[in-house]
Amino acid sequence: MTLGPVASLILEGEDLETNFSHDETVSIDLNLKVYDETLTGQILVSDRPAGLADVVPVARSLSDEIARRTIEYAKSTGRNIPCKKGCAACCRYLVPVSAPEVFRIWDEIQVIKPEHQRNVLSAFVSASQRILDAGPPPVPQGRGASGEDPQDATDAINRWYAEIGVDCPLLERETCTAYSFRPIACREHMVTSSAEHCLPAKGKQVKLTEPPFSIVEALGRLAAEAENLDIESVMLPFAPSWRQINHERARRTWPAPVLFECFVAIIHDLSARRRLAAA
Ligand code: SF4
Repeated sequence: MTLGPVASLILEGEDLETNFSHDETVSIDLNLKVYDETLTGQILVSDRPAGLADVVPVARSLSDEIARRTIEYAKSTGRNIPCKKGCAACCRYLVPVSAPEVFRIWDEIQVIKPEHQRNVLSAFVSASQRILDAGPPPVPQGRGASGEDPQDATDAINRWYAEIGVDCPLLERETCTAYSFRPIACREHMVTSSAEHCLPAKGKQVKLTEPPFSIVEALGRLAAEAENLDIESVMLPFAPSWRQINHERARRTWPAPVLFECFVAIIHDLSARRRLAAA
């Protein structure tokens, strides 16, 4: 298990600072449309083997930058985003986690203090048990003969999960105990309605922001393409058990520059598709 940096995100105007030798670094350009602006920068990648988990820190940094720009854009269009550190109003919703994030979060749980680690793992077990006790979620049908919209099916699963009322296992006394390594879905979830509307009982009144593209979706696609599998998404409470089952996958490596080039290509593709759909 390595938690040292394999890559750094350097946004335009920032100093070049990496924790690895520049002699062994590959630079990958970023040029992304984010609302009315262009996000430019580079990802500097160490030329060594890397696993899917190694992409996650850069993905988080990028997600945080997009979140910052989303808040600015909302303000410029007269809307307010009340989401902030310390608000846990949405922490009983279903949090989908990509395979690279599961691998990374598991590694990060391994290095927290043993006593806290025991509590965290026990909270994951309790939350998983509550979900299993609630029975299976509604099965998505997709748009088929019934004419059901896939988004309706996703909404049905989200409603099912919210009705179970299971606390996120990383939530303690209404505070996220893993704020620095919280899933990207949590970073991308921003509302323009009042925080009290986020409580599951009032979920229908929530107004969500529309991100320019989804980094959690990009990570899901990266894992699928690297491993030649379908895109997977894990409910956060099942992350530790899913990681145990997929132990060998977590250890697999690729040349880091190849992995990051693929990640950046996927983000550019998602961004272009979103712009095309909006045009
Ligand atoms: S990881 Fe943190 S922010 Fe995300 S749902 Fe859990 S407690 Fe809330």
